Amino acid sequence: MARELPLPPKVGMVSLGCPKNLVDSERILTKLRADGYALSPDYAGADVVLVNTCGFLDSAKEESLEAIGEAIAENGRVIVTGCMGAEAEVIRSRFPQVLAVTGAHQYEQVVGAVHEAAPVPPSPFVDLVPERDLKLTPRHYSYLKISEGCNHRCSFCIIPALRGDLASRRPDAILREAEKLVAAGTRELLVISQDTSAYGLDLRHADYPLKGGGAVRAHLTDLARALGGLGAWVRLHYVYPYPHVDQLIPLMAEGLVLPYLDIPFQHAAPAVLRRMKRPANDAKVLDRIRAWRAICPDIALRSTFVVGFPGETEADFEYLLEWLDEAQLDRVGAFRFEPVAGAAANALPDPVPEPVKEERYARLMAKTAAISAAKLRAKVGRTLDVIIDRVDGDGASGRSKADAPEIDGEVHLRDAGHLAPGAIVPVRIEDADEHDLYGVPRA
Ligand code: SF4
Repeated sequence: MARELPLPPKVGMVSLGCPKNLVDSERILTKLRADGYALSPDYAGADVVLVNTCGFLDSAKEESLEAIGEAIAENGRVIVTGCMGAEAEVIRSRFPQVLAVTGAHQYEQVVGAVHEAAPVPPSPFVDLVPERDLKLTPRHYSYLKISEGCNHRCSFCIIPALRGDLASRRPDAILREAEKLVAAGTRELLVISQDTSAYGLDLRHADYPLKGGGAVRAHLTDLARALGGLGAWVRLHYVYPYPHVDQLIPLMAEGLVLPYLDIPFQHAAPAVLRRMKRPANDAKVLDRIRAWRAICPDIALRSTFVVGFPGETEADFEYLLEWLDEAQLDRVGAFRFEPVAGAAANALPDPVPEPVKEERYARLMAKTAAISAAKLRAKVGRTLDVIIDRVDGDGASGRSKADAPEIDGEVHLRDAGHLAPGAIVPVRIEDADEHDLYGVPRA
């Protein structure tokens, strides 16, 4: 049976006043959409209604109050924002049931109020960030979402149906957010989106002026270079191997971007990839991996794979295992195929029986664990930069440039009680197992 996902909460919007207010409304809705909300065209379907008010003239104020009254009568769950937010008492005295009142351009507050009034239920099928992290991202690393939605239509995926086509954020806005994060103590920026390589396609890769002068192009290469200039580690997730991804590798070799690529390959057998309708499904990807390693020998490649996709034969699966032998990926996550309500793949013939899925999953995990163990063993004796995540008594745990938080391995340190979370220190690696490294900070 297909797994039913919780529906995203719906937000209704009434936008009053001048074109500037309309731009604000669009910004708020773009942010809410990026956060996983759907939009409701009417009062009845909305979980919460935003009224973006105008307070320029008395007549506009009256119109705003009428709109708030109508939204309360029709829906009941109303958040007020915009120019009339400056007169919160007037609004509250007339409509005490209003959930929140925020002022003009207070995007964070209004978005925060929506999150409080109608939280998005977490879902492992659509969330880019591990659930546990939502509340507890330590200050020293931050997720930076650069776009939302996706232009592809992979047959097992419902993201495009839920979140729509690719909608990239402006590169100048991303840079501003990243600068603020770095100023507030972030030492590692984790770039996420559904399809990071496609960034800026919908913005036609245009140039956007920067406040301090100059401009930045809405293209992943340019954005990555600009982010790399901020002095924090920059880690790229959900990168599909489109041809221009090759341009990122020199940035890694230069040290501007971490030598790390998270590429969700999902499978290797051409027939399975075709049925999955995967993007950048390039038979030459192994050659490209070799070329990347020639330019940047330390590049760490992480990927995820699905086993037991409908129609996957034993030969397809063995093809995948052989491909993994060649690709020598550093980190691999795997899933057993599970139908998700609304996904096209559910209608595909030849479902793989559960015991076969289990057996293939175990074989895949054994293969990738052996590869990972050998790769980690080769690091023993080297000195690696490690970012400290936790300090516990005399020990500490952190990650090398090859490890993303939550999904990859860790580096466990002894004699490290003096370190603070967020510190980046050279560590001599003394030991390794299948997933983790062990070492001591160098004096
Ligand atoms: S690339 Fe495919 S799997 Fe990824 S979000 Fe788009 S449709 Fe879904």
